[in-house]
Amino acid sequence: IKGIYDREMAFYDDSLREKMMREQKIIDTMEESLQQGNFQVFLQPKVEIGTGKLIGAEALVRWDHPEYGMISPADFIPLFEKNDFIYNLDRFMWDKTCQIIEMWKNKFGSFVPISVNVSRKDLYHGDLPDVLTKLTANYHLNPSDLHLEITESAYVADSHQLLAVIGQLKQIGFVIEMDDFGKGYSSLNTLSELPIDILKLDMEFLKPGKNIMRRREIMRLVIDLATRLKLQVIAEGVETEEQRDLLKGMGCKYAQGYLYGKPMHREAFLRYLTGIYA
Ligand code: C2E
Ligand code: MG
Ligand code: MG
Ligand code: MG
Repeated sequence: IKGIYDREMAFYDDSLREKMMREQKIIDTMEESLQQGNFQVFLQPKVEIGTGKLIGAEALVRWDHPEYGMISPADFIPLFEKNDFIYNLDRFMWDKTCQIIEMWKNKFGSFVPISVNVSRKDLYHGDLPDVLTKLTANYHLNPSDLHLEITESAYVADSHQLLAVIGQLKQIGFVIEMDDFGKGYSSLNTLSELPIDILKLDMEFLKPGKNIMRRREIMRLVIDLATRLKLQVIAEGVETEEQRDLLKGMGCKYAQGYLYGKPMHREAFLRYLTGIYA
C-alpha cells in the first residue's frame, strides 16, 4: 500500500510542479508577447435570432504563445487579474478593437458595435473613463460604437466605487453589457442598481444535465424580467437549433454561440460577413 501511495504522491507533485512552472512561464513571457504581437483579437458574431442578422460582435483575446501555441483565456486571464497585467492587455485589446471598428466603418460606410471585455480589476483604475474616451476619439468613433462587457460578479463586492465608475462610463455614452448574468453568486439587486443596457445570459442556463427544467424556468423568468426592464437580452453559448428555438419561444431576441459562428481571426470574420451579406 505504501508503494502505491508514494507513486500517487509523486504524480501529484509532478503535475503540481508542472502547473506552477507553466504559470511562471506565462508570467515571464507576457510582457514580451504583448510587445511582439502574440496577443490577437478574435471576433465572434452576435445575431438577431429571428432574422439571423448581425447585430454586433465580441472581441476575445487569443494568445499565440511561442512555446505552448494557442492558449485559452481561461489559462491566463485569472493570472493576469492577480498580477495586474490585465489592464495592459485589456488596453491593448481595446485599442486594436477600436482600430478594427474604424477600419470597417470606413470600408462598409457603417458597422455594428463591437464589445470588449472589461475586467473587474480594470474598474479600479481611476483613469479608465479617460483612457476609453481618448481611445474612441483617437479612432474617430462614437462611444456607442464600443460596448463594454462587465462580468456580473464584478459588482458584488464593494459596489459603491464600481457603481460610480460604471455610471461615469454610461454617462459618456458607452453601452454597458452585463456579462455572464446568472453565473455564480449574484443578486437581482444589481439589475436595479446598475445602469446597464444589455444583459448577457450565461451559457450555463442552456447546458444539459442536472436541474435542467429548473434552470430553464429561471431563464424564462430572467428574460421576461429583463424585457420588462427594457434591457436587450443576448443568450451566450447557443450551439444547437433546439436551444435557439427554446430561446425564441421564451422571447429572447439575440444570441451568440457556435451555432452562428465561433470566435474568428479578423480576416475570417470578414469572410463570414461576405457570406452573410451575399
Ligand atoms: P466571456 O466574455 O463570457 O466570453 C464568452 C466565452 O464563451 C468565450 O470564451 C467564447 O469563445 C465562448 N463561447 C462562445 N460561444 C460558445 C458556444 O457556443 N459554446 C461554448 N462552449 N463556448 C462558447 P473564451 O474566448 O475562451 O473566453 C473566456 C473568458 O475569458 C471570457 O468569457 C472573458 O471573461 C475572458 N476574456 C476573453 N477575452 C478577454 C479580454 O480581452 N479581456 C478580458 N478581461 N477578459 C477576456
Ligand atoms: Mg464577454
Ligand atoms: Mg459571457
Ligand atoms: Mg463567460
